[in-house]
Amino acid sequence: MQTLSSPPYLPQLSHSHPKTTGSPVPVTSHQGLTSLSFATRASPSELLPHARHFILSLLYRGALELGDMAEHEGLEFGKADFVLLDQVTMEAFLSNMKLRFETGRIYTYIGEVVVSVNPYRSMELYDKEMIDFYRGRELYERPPHLYAIADAAYKAMKRRAKDTCIVISGESGSGKTEASKYIMQYIAAITNPTQRQEVERVKNVLLKSNCLLEAFGNAKTNRNDNSSRFGKYMDINFDFKGDPTGGHINNYLLEKSRVLKQQPGERNFHSFYQLLRGASDEQLNSLHLQRDPELYSFTRDGITLNNFPINDTSSYKAVLDSMKVIGFSPEEVDSVYRILAAILHLGNLCFNMDGDSVIIDNEELVAHIAQLTHCPTDSVLKTLLYRMVATGGGDVIEKGHNIKEANYARDACAKAFYERLFCWIVGRINNVIEVKNYNARIHGKNTVIGVLDIYGFEIFENNSFEQFCINYCNEKLQQLFIELILRQEQDEYQREGIEWQHIDYFNNQIIVDLVEQPHKGIISILDEACLTVGGVTDTIFLESMNTKLCKHPHYTSRKLSHTDKSLAFNRDFRIKHYAGFVTYSVEGFLDKNKDTLFQDFKRLMYNSKDPVLTDMWPDGQLSISEVTKRPLTAATLFKNSMICLVDNLACKEPYYVRCVKPNDQKAPYLFDEQRCRHQVEYLGLLENVRVRRAGFAYRQPYERFLLRYKMTCEYTWPNHLMNSDMEATKALIDHHRFEDDVAYGQTKVFIRTPQTLFSLEEERAEL
Ligand code: ATP
Ligand code: MG
Repeated sequence: MQTLSSPPYLPQLSHSHPKTTGSPVPVTSHQGLTSLSFATRASPSELLPHARHFILSLLYRGALELGDMAEHEGLEFGKADFVLLDQVTMEAFLSNMKLRFETGRIYTYIGEVVVSVNPYRSMELYDKEMIDFYRGRELYERPPHLYAIADAAYKAMKRRAKDTCIVISGESGSGKTEASKYIMQYIAAITNPTQRQEVERVKNVLLKSNCLLEAFGNAKTNRNDNSSRFGKYMDINFDFKGDPTGGHINNYLLEKSRVLKQQPGERNFHSFYQLLRGASDEQLNSLHLQRDPELYSFTRDGITLNNFPINDTSSYKAVLDSMKVIGFSPEEVDSVYRILAAILHLGNLCFNMDGDSVIIDNEELVAHIAQLTHCPTDSVLKTLLYRMVATGGGDVIEKGHNIKEANYARDACAKAFYERLFCWIVGRINNVIEVKNYNARIHGKNTVIGVLDIYGFEIFENNSFEQFCINYCNEKLQQLFIELILRQEQDEYQREGIEWQHIDYFNNQIIVDLVEQPHKGIISILDEACLTVGGVTDTIFLESMNTKLCKHPHYTSRKLSHTDKSLAFNRDFRIKHYAGFVTYSVEGFLDKNKDTLFQDFKRLMYNSKDPVLTDMWPDGQLSISEVTKRPLTAATLFKNSMICLVDNLACKEPYYVRCVKPNDQKAPYLFDEQRCRHQVEYLGLLENVRVRRAGFAYRQPYERFLLRYKMTCEYTWPNHLMNSDMEATKALIDHHRFEDDVAYGQTKVFIRTPQTLFSLEEERAEL
């Protein structure tokens, strides 16, 4: 092979570099080809500021623009794309992930999927410089980053008028919400260069909505100090210029049981502590509250936590500011905090027996609740102690609660109150960001980027109804993931005119059916049990499942598996999810699914003098005889919302962020292999790599491919004389005898095995 001189398209770089007090940052040369490698085991972000500047300025000058900067990273920093692993084994995958994590590279690709490992420390990866670095670039031009994915989604939306979505998944604490915020921050930063006022307003609302939703929807859990206790899907609408003109938020399954009780070491939703710690004395007085969270049954358990990094006082101010920016009126803000206060008072109500009837020990609280909710005191009292029931003959009579019922009703009210408040806040944000201009909506080009930040698989020691719903949601999303990733591949092959090869993969439809199939699935069996009049218990529901599903390959009746003596017999069932076995306790399934809230309470709230409350309880206008006999159950409502979500995502071009939590200690630098292995398994990442490699592991537009490899072939160096880049690529490939491993599309070359690419890389390096 002829000796080659330095390619003309590369600027000549000085081999000297600025002085750093740490290890040098050499610019190495491969016979004229210039690449960067870092002598330290640090990422660019960790280098001393001026060294980092130097590297960035080189990059800005286009020194590395010929292709994939990640490929310039020496082996000691791992592969920037898992597809390029020599072997697709768990060991190889994990060691690459670990190597990258330990050298500050928290992002790695699998094709167009970003795998992100939570660094649990502040990374200099998100400043303006970085945004500019990624802006308008192609995915492989820069090291893996969320910004690259956000840019790809934005470009697809802008250039090809494609609706796109970014699906962020991973277990609690893996960094989903942070990732979604960085993505939104990036989109906000690169849009509206002309500073149009309306667009700025929408962007501000979108950004500020995070703070508000986190205050009311997040809580400290044992897994994450700021854990989202709801699923969130946000659509951002763009006009023909590519500027955000509106948006819409959907929220899913808020964990409302947290209002009543939290696990040891956990807290209630942040909003309660923010109010108690952040409000002025005067405000607290007006709400009949005292500052100490220990005084309230709902917040008592969460206060003993030491070293808790969230500052409730400053957060309270930030939330007030967010509400103002979003456009809440002072009266609405007032209503929000009055409702929160009423919930705290509800929690402290004590019921007792007086002869045959139930009384409330601390009736002064009833007066507070009445005042705060703008309802008559005697109506509140009555609703807490009685309910109206329709008799068989069509009459309506008043029936007093017993103590158990009174406690149950109070708790149901508190949960429902909080849930409605949360949904109202989401609705209020939607009001101010929905695309208002009718013409723009109907006639104009209005494209969408959706961002989904939703709970990952949950496998706890005790798994209940909530985990069942969350894991079902993950089954649905996994199914979509496989379908879309495969479909995307298939579409690209079709577009490029390349023959498609079928790839085998585990289709988890069977598990989705086990849960959601009409008449036969678990949700149907559960609903049936809930609708049966009289004495159906969780155990009867379990027996019904065991009878109907005993032959299902993914369902195990615990009666059959008596080897595991440690588990309570007859109280649980097991599902073989795509992510592994999960044992659920049936306890509370019926109750949580029925989610009963007496109509009396809804009616009380609907008739409140506070318009915010009336707005929250539209179903309170129905009289007892009008109330539908069979309201949809919680599981069915959730199932329906999941079906809508999946339908919505399926018609968009998807981008994926798969988040991994490196350890349970929330510690920086610690890569717990066991924990990561488990997540790689259940996120299906190896399968993802295999799918990607089973087709064509690598594809590149002809022009870019030639830029990178033309020096390895005499027919293409320094410039080819053929009719097209495709012909030149063919000549290059034939020259190296790789023709059996390559297919030629309309605009791209497709290479089946990574080995071919490695060989080309070696050829290139040997020059
Ligand atoms: P959950 O499902 O419980 O809501 P999550 O996946 O949304 O969890 P986050 O709240 O995004 O997790 O992240 C948990 C914590 O990890 C953050 O509060 C932050 O301290 C840290 N973290 C996550 N991503 C990053 C990042 N890119 N850089 C620095 N720290 C991060
Ligand atoms: Mg979150």
